Amino acid sequence: MEIVKNLKLGDFELFFLRDGSFWLDGGGYFGIVPKVIWQKLLYVDELNRVKLNINPMLVKTGKHNVLIDPGMGNKYSDKLKKVFRMEYQPSIEQSLAEIGMNPDDIDIVVATHLHFDHVGACTRYDSSGKVVPTFRNAIHYTQKGEWENAIHPNERTKGTYFLENYVPLMEAGLVKIVEGNVEIVPGVSVEVTGGHTEHHQIIFAKSEEEIAVYFGGIVSAVTHLKIPYTMGFDLYPVEVMEKRKELYQRAIEGKWLVCLEHDPKNRAGYFEFDGKNYQFNKKVG
Ligand SMILES: [Zn+2]
Repeated sequence: MEIVKNLKLGDFELFFLRDGSFWLDGGGYFGIVPKVIWQKLLYVDELNRVKLNINPMLVKTGKHNVLIDPGMGNKYSDKLKKVFRMEYQPSIEQSLAEIGMNPDDIDIVVATHLHFDHVGACTRYDSSGKVVPTFRNAIHYTQKGEWENAIHPNERTKGTYFLENYVPLMEAGLVKIVEGNVEIVPGVSVEVTGGHTEHHQIIFAKSEEEIAVYFGGIVSAVTHLKIPYTMGFDLYPVEVMEKRKELYQRAIEGKWLVCLEHDPKNRAGYFEFDGKNYQFNKKVG
Protein backbone atom coordinates (compact mmCIF):
# COMPACT_ATOMS: atom_id res chain seq x y z
CA MET A 1 0.00 0.00 0.00
CA GLU A 2 1.29 3.42 -0.83
CA ILE A 3 0.90 5.56 2.26
CA VAL A 4 3.35 8.37 1.77
CA LYS A 5 3.21 11.11 -0.84
CA ASN A 6 5.92 13.64 -1.45
CA LEU A 7 6.49 17.02 -3.06
CA LYS A 8 9.41 19.34 -3.68
CA LEU A 9 9.37 22.68 -1.87
CA GLY A 10 12.29 24.67 -3.24
CA ASP A 11 15.36 22.74 -2.10
CA PHE A 12 13.36 20.87 0.54
CA GLU A 13 11.36 17.71 0.16
CA LEU A 14 8.04 17.31 1.96
CA PHE A 15 6.62 13.91 2.85
CA PHE A 16 2.97 13.45 3.81
CA LEU A 17 2.79 10.57 6.26
CA ARG A 18 0.09 8.81 8.29
CA ASP A 19 -0.27 7.60 11.86
CA GLY A 20 -3.57 5.75 11.91
CA SER A 21 -6.94 7.32 12.52
CA PHE A 22 -9.55 7.77 15.22
CA TRP A 23 -13.22 8.60 15.45
CA LEU A 24 -14.35 11.67 17.34
CA ASP A 25 -17.82 12.57 18.56
CA GLY A 26 -19.32 14.64 15.74
CA GLY A 27 -20.78 17.16 18.20
CA GLY A 28 -17.39 17.70 19.80
CA TYR A 29 -15.77 18.04 16.38
CA PHE A 30 -18.26 20.54 14.95
CA GLY A 31 -18.89 22.65 18.08
CA ILE A 32 -21.84 25.00 17.60
CA VAL A 33 -22.73 23.76 14.11
CA PRO A 34 -26.02 21.77 14.25
CA LYS A 35 -25.88 18.11 13.24
CA VAL A 36 -28.61 18.61 10.62
CA ILE A 37 -26.02 20.66 8.75
CA TRP A 38 -22.69 18.90 9.40
CA GLN A 39 -24.02 15.36 8.87
CA LYS A 40 -24.33 16.15 5.17
CA LEU A 41 -20.58 16.72 4.95
CA LEU A 42 -19.21 13.30 5.98
CA TYR A 43 -20.01 9.75 7.12
CA VAL A 44 -21.30 9.41 10.70
CA ASP A 45 -21.05 6.06 12.50
CA GLU A 46 -23.73 4.47 14.71
CA LEU A 47 -22.27 6.16 17.82
CA ASN A 48 -22.35 9.63 16.23
CA ARG A 49 -18.62 9.64 15.50
CA VAL A 50 -16.75 10.96 12.47
CA LYS A 51 -13.42 9.70 11.15
CA LEU A 52 -10.25 11.75 11.54
CA ASN A 53 -7.02 10.60 9.93
CA ILE A 54 -3.71 11.58 11.46
CA ASN A 55 -1.44 13.22 8.89
CA PRO A 56 2.08 13.97 10.17
CA MET A 57 4.46 15.78 7.84
CA LEU A 58 8.20 15.30 7.34
CA VAL A 59 10.43 18.09 6.04
CA LYS A 60 13.79 16.98 4.66
CA THR A 61 15.87 20.15 4.42
CA GLY A 62 19.05 18.42 3.26
CA LYS A 63 20.63 18.93 6.69
CA HIS A 64 17.75 18.00 8.96
CA ASN A 65 14.84 15.58 9.03
CA VAL A 66 12.07 17.54 10.74
CA LEU A 67 8.98 15.59 11.77
CA ILE A 68 5.87 17.67 12.47
CA ASP A 69 3.13 16.32 14.80
CA PRO A 70 4.18 12.62 14.77
CA GLY A 71 0.70 11.34 15.68
CA MET A 72 -1.20 9.51 18.41
CA GLY A 73 0.88 6.32 18.86
CA ASN A 74 -0.70 3.28 20.50
CA LYS A 75 -0.19 3.38 24.28
CA TYR A 76 -3.87 3.72 25.14
CA SER A 77 -6.14 1.72 27.45
CA ASP A 78 -8.70 -0.65 25.93
CA LYS A 79 -11.42 1.72 27.12
CA LEU A 80 -9.92 4.74 25.35
CA LYS A 81 -9.26 2.71 22.21
CA LYS A 82 -12.96 1.86 22.11
CA VAL A 83 -14.20 5.37 22.92
CA PHE A 84 -12.13 6.83 20.09
CA ARG A 85 -12.30 3.76 17.78
CA MET A 86 -8.53 4.09 17.33
CA GLU A 87 -6.99 2.38 14.31
CA TYR A 88 -3.20 2.07 14.16
CA GLN A 89 -2.66 1.25 10.51
CA PRO A 90 -0.68 2.69 8.88
CA SER A 91 1.54 3.82 11.75
CA ILE A 92 4.21 6.51 11.68
CA GLU A 93 6.86 3.75 11.74
CA GLN A 94 5.27 2.09 8.70
CA SER A 95 5.08 5.46 6.94
CA LEU A 96 8.79 6.10 7.54
CA ALA A 97 9.70 2.55 6.47
CA GLU A 98 7.96 3.11 3.16
CA ILE A 99 10.48 5.86 2.35
CA GLY A 100 13.45 3.87 3.65
CA MET A 101 13.65 5.67 7.00
CA ASN A 102 13.20 4.73 10.64
CA PRO A 103 12.57 6.75 13.84
CA ASP A 104 16.32 7.04 14.53
CA ASP A 105 16.71 9.11 11.34
CA ILE A 106 14.58 11.95 12.74
CA ASP A 107 16.66 14.67 14.39
CA ILE A 108 13.96 17.30 15.00
CA VAL A 109 10.36 16.89 16.14
CA VAL A 110 8.08 19.95 16.29
CA ALA A 111 4.55 19.83 17.65
CA THR A 112 1.77 22.35 17.10
CA HIS A 113 0.52 21.45 20.59
CA LEU A 114 0.72 18.51 23.00
CA HIS A 115 -2.72 16.86 22.62
CA PHE A 116 -2.51 13.07 22.50
CA ASP A 117 -3.41 12.76 18.81
CA HIS A 118 -0.39 14.94 17.92
CA VAL A 119 2.38 13.73 20.24
CA GLY A 120 1.27 10.31 21.53
CA ALA A 121 3.60 8.77 18.94
CA CYS A 122 6.60 10.54 20.52
CA THR A 123 6.82 7.77 23.13
CA ARG A 124 6.21 4.02 23.01
CA TYR A 125 6.35 0.94 25.23
CA ASP A 126 9.63 -0.97 25.09
CA SER A 127 9.71 -4.78 25.46
CA SER A 128 9.66 -4.48 29.27
CA GLY A 129 6.59 -2.22 29.23
CA LYS A 130 8.51 0.95 30.04
CA VAL A 131 7.55 4.16 28.21
CA VAL A 132 10.53 5.34 26.15
CA PRO A 133 11.13 7.99 23.45
CA THR A 134 10.29 6.84 19.92
CA PHE A 135 12.61 9.32 18.21
CA ARG A 136 15.59 8.92 20.51
CA ASN A 137 17.97 11.00 18.36
CA ALA A 138 15.55 13.94 18.04
CA ILE A 139 15.24 17.23 19.87
CA HIS A 140 11.53 17.85 20.49
CA TYR A 141 10.49 21.51 20.30
CA THR A 142 7.54 22.90 22.23
CA GLN A 143 6.27 26.31 23.32
CA LYS A 144 6.95 27.14 26.97
CA GLY A 145 3.31 27.95 27.77
CA GLU A 146 2.06 24.81 25.99
CA TRP A 147 4.48 22.69 28.01
CA GLU A 148 3.38 24.26 31.30
CA ASN A 149 -0.30 23.77 30.50
CA ALA A 150 0.33 20.20 29.36
CA ILE A 151 2.14 19.13 32.52
CA HIS A 152 -0.62 20.68 34.68
CA PRO A 153 -3.81 19.76 32.84
CA ASN A 154 -7.05 21.07 34.32
CA GLU A 155 -10.44 19.36 34.64
CA ARG A 156 -11.28 20.22 31.04
CA THR A 157 -7.94 19.45 29.39
CA LYS A 158 -6.95 16.27 31.23
CA GLY A 159 -8.79 14.15 28.63
CA THR A 160 -6.39 15.43 25.96
CA TYR A 161 -3.04 15.98 27.74
CA PHE A 162 -1.40 12.68 28.82
CA LEU A 163 1.90 13.09 30.64
CA GLU A 164 3.37 9.79 29.38
CA ASN A 165 3.44 11.29 25.88
CA TYR A 166 6.01 13.98 26.73
CA VAL A 167 7.40 13.80 30.30
CA PRO A 168 9.68 10.82 29.37
CA LEU A 169 11.16 13.03 26.61
CA MET A 170 12.10 15.69 29.15
CA GLU A 171 13.59 13.02 31.43
CA ALA A 172 15.69 11.81 28.51
CA GLY A 173 16.94 15.37 27.83
CA LEU A 174 15.21 15.50 24.45
CA VAL A 175 12.95 18.54 24.94
CA LYS A 176 13.82 22.08 23.93
CA ILE A 177 11.44 24.77 25.12
CA VAL A 178 11.02 27.87 22.97
CA GLU A 179 9.06 31.06 23.51
CA GLY A 180 7.29 32.95 20.74
CA ASN A 181 7.97 32.93 17.00
CA VAL A 182 11.36 31.36 16.32
CA GLU A 183 13.32 29.61 13.61
CA ILE A 184 13.94 25.99 14.61
CA VAL A 185 16.46 25.17 11.86
CA PRO A 186 17.17 27.20 8.70
CA GLY A 187 13.90 27.33 6.74
CA VAL A 188 11.67 25.81 9.44
CA SER A 189 9.98 28.17 11.90
CA VAL A 190 7.05 28.36 14.29
CA GLU A 191 4.45 31.08 14.83
CA VAL A 192 2.26 31.17 17.92
CA THR A 193 -1.46 31.44 17.14
CA GLY A 194 -3.30 30.43 20.31
CA GLY A 195 -6.91 29.47 19.65
CA HIS A 196 -7.09 25.68 19.76
CA THR A 197 -4.90 25.81 22.88
CA GLU A 198 -3.55 28.91 24.62
CA HIS A 199 -0.04 28.56 23.11
CA HIS A 200 -0.83 26.58 19.95
CA GLN A 201 1.67 27.21 17.13
CA ILE A 202 1.71 26.65 13.38
CA ILE A 203 4.82 25.44 11.59
CA PHE A 204 6.32 26.90 8.42
CA ALA A 205 8.76 25.37 5.95
CA LYS A 206 10.28 27.83 3.49
CA SER A 207 12.78 27.24 0.72
CA GLU A 208 13.54 29.28 -2.40
CA GLU A 209 10.49 31.53 -1.74
CA GLU A 210 8.15 28.53 -1.63
CA ILE A 211 6.19 28.18 1.60
CA ALA A 212 4.33 25.29 3.22
CA VAL A 213 2.51 25.61 6.52
CA TYR A 214 1.16 23.01 8.92
CA PHE A 215 -2.01 24.51 10.37
CA GLY A 216 -2.54 22.05 13.26
CA GLY A 217 -5.70 22.89 15.19
CA ILE A 218 -6.37 26.16 13.32
CA VAL A 219 -8.20 24.24 10.62
CA SER A 220 -7.89 20.46 10.60
CA ALA A 221 -10.00 19.45 7.60
CA VAL A 222 -11.82 20.87 4.60
CA THR A 223 -15.15 20.28 6.38
CA HIS A 224 -14.02 22.97 8.87
CA LEU A 225 -13.06 25.65 6.37
CA LYS A 226 -15.93 27.98 7.23
CA ILE A 227 -14.82 30.58 9.79
CA PRO A 228 -17.29 29.62 12.62
CA TYR A 229 -16.87 25.83 12.12
CA THR A 230 -14.62 25.48 15.17
CA MET A 231 -14.30 22.44 17.42
CA GLY A 232 -15.87 21.85 20.82
CA PHE A 233 -12.29 20.98 21.83
CA ASP A 234 -10.99 24.46 20.94
CA LEU A 235 -10.19 26.21 24.20
CA TYR A 236 -10.55 29.69 22.64
CA PRO A 237 -12.87 29.34 19.63
CA VAL A 238 -13.26 33.08 19.02
CA GLU A 239 -9.46 33.33 18.76
CA VAL A 240 -9.51 30.48 16.22
CA MET A 241 -11.99 32.45 14.10
CA GLU A 242 -9.89 35.62 14.21
CA LYS A 243 -6.70 33.70 13.36
CA ARG A 244 -8.42 31.93 10.47
CA LYS A 245 -9.43 35.23 8.90
CA GLU A 246 -5.85 36.48 9.10
CA LEU A 247 -4.15 33.23 8.06
CA TYR A 248 -6.49 32.36 5.17
CA GLN A 249 -5.73 35.76 3.67
CA ARG A 250 -1.98 35.36 4.14
CA ALA A 251 -2.17 31.83 2.72
CA ILE A 252 -3.82 33.09 -0.46
CA GLU A 253 -1.48 36.06 -0.89
CA GLY A 254 1.64 34.00 -0.15
CA LYS A 255 0.49 30.96 -2.18
CA TRP A 256 1.13 28.78 0.88
CA LEU A 257 0.80 25.04 0.55
CA VAL A 258 -1.43 24.33 3.56
CA CYS A 259 -1.26 20.95 5.32
CA LEU A 260 -4.32 19.64 7.15
CA GLU A 261 -3.72 17.40 10.16
CA HIS A 262 -6.94 15.34 10.20
CA ASP A 263 -8.50 15.36 6.74
CA PRO A 264 -8.97 11.81 5.35
CA LYS A 265 -9.00 13.04 1.75
CA ASN A 266 -6.99 16.29 1.68
CA ARG A 267 -3.53 16.28 3.22
CA ALA A 268 -2.35 19.47 1.54
CA GLY A 269 -3.55 22.14 -0.87
CA TYR A 270 -4.02 25.83 -1.59
CA PHE A 271 -6.62 28.25 -0.26
CA GLU A 272 -8.77 30.22 -2.65
CA PHE A 273 -11.55 32.74 -2.17
CA ASP A 274 -14.34 32.61 -4.75
CA GLY A 275 -15.85 35.95 -3.72
CA LYS A 276 -18.21 34.30 -1.24
CA ASN A 277 -16.52 31.31 0.38
CA TYR A 278 -13.04 29.96 0.99
CA GLN A 279 -12.20 26.89 -1.07
CA PHE A 280 -9.43 24.32 -0.77
CA ASN A 281 -7.66 23.33 -3.97
CA LYS A 282 -6.31 19.85 -3.21
CA LYS A 283 -2.69 19.06 -4.05
CA VAL A 284 -2.10 15.94 -1.92
CA GLY A 285 -4.93 13.51 -1.13
ZN1 LIG B 1 -5.73 19.29 19.57
